[in-house]
Amino acid sequence: MRKTFLSFSPPLIEEDEIKEVIDTLKSNWITTGPKTKKFEEEFRIYFNCSSSLALNSCTAALHTALVALGIGPGDEVITTPMTFCASVNVIEQVGAKPVLVDIEADTLNIDPLKIEKAITPRTKAILPVHYSGHPVELDAINEIARRHNLFVIEDAAHALSAKYKGKFIGSTNNPVCFSFYATKNLTTAEGGMLTGEPEFIEKARIVSLHGMSRDAWKRYSKEGSWYYEVVFPGFKYNMTDIQASLGLWQLKKLERFQNRRREIVKMYNKAFSNEEALELPVERPYVEHAWHLYVIRLNLNALKIGRNEFIDELNKRNIGTSVHFIPIHLHPYYRDKYRFRPEDFPIAYSNYLRVISLPLCPKLTDQDVNDVIEAVLDVVKSYKR
Ligand SMILES: *Cc1c(COP(=O)(O)O)cnc(C)c1O
Repeated sequence: MRKTFLSFSPPLIEEDEIKEVIDTLKSNWITTGPKTKKFEEEFRIYFNCSSSLALNSCTAALHTALVALGIGPGDEVITTPMTFCASVNVIEQVGAKPVLVDIEADTLNIDPLKIEKAITPRTKAILPVHYSGHPVELDAINEIARRHNLFVIEDAAHALSAKYKGKFIGSTNNPVCFSFYATKNLTTAEGGMLTGEPEFIEKARIVSLHGMSRDAWKRYSKEGSWYYEVVFPGFKYNMTDIQASLGLWQLKKLERFQNRRREIVKMYNKAFSNEEALELPVERPYVEHAWHLYVIRLNLNALKIGRNEFIDELNKRNIGTSVHFIPIHLHPYYRDKYRFRPEDFPIAYSNYLRVISLPLCPKLTDQDVNDVIEAVLDVVKSYKR
């Protein structure tokens, strides 16, 4: 058994990132400035986005997108219960109503076939989440949106590097929100990126920074001036150059990180594929999974213990795991406000009871991965029915 505890998803920060942060700290500019601009631009080129805006979180990107699109009280936004609370909290924050739609049984992504039934005259947008890094059915969702004149705002917190039919998530014209939180595929400790069409991004830029009609940093540089106008009561969501220092190097290393993620996924798949107590994650043939998460599902009929006990057993064997996600409709705020029952979204609920996210990050050594495999198979063997 493993001697030290393996954390679920430690970040991989190297000397390049550290040196760049120090360089920024020693410069005369530590908040949004030249490095944020550079990161924004290098990200845009890498993922072939039409325009990009660096922000201080994915939550900020989602909130900014909804506001920039004019979504507010009286409007409805269709989204998934199988997500992090941030995707839905922002809908509440703008005063709109989140309308949940159940998920597909294989990918655990929002089910396009169920979206259309949830559309009302008040629906303004669909907010799909690329769960675990597997792209949602974008063609079907975009087509529904086109027919009903709706916006599609993609929560791509898990989907950095994912491709749908050969194209990077973020390279089409929908507003797309990425996260650089500490556990995500690329990290700036906290951070996010909003991508989309240039006109939308220009509006979002104003909304995200006090509603000022000029970038603050330009005001203080030699090309700028002291003058600005407030055209909207905006937010304070800008990324700092300290964060961007991390992002610039993480982006250069992203391909290496992704390759390592795929290697680990192969090791897990190979080790678990013949185990009837475990259901493995899927990857549809026309997508590239970003492998932010490796989510196994327990076949509860084959085991004498439930998911919670399984996690406890892995903990005892020094393996850290997580659960993605406690479905939105089970959280007291949403449950009570909308009178949700667990079975209202049966696929989300039944899968919630059996999902476990195993450690998956480029920092893992082969030994770490083998330790995880050994522990999982040992728990299965010990508690097989
Ligand atoms: C992490 C995450 C977010 C929030 O990202 P932040 O950058 O922490 O705001 C949003 N949606 C999903 C699905 C996430 O996993």
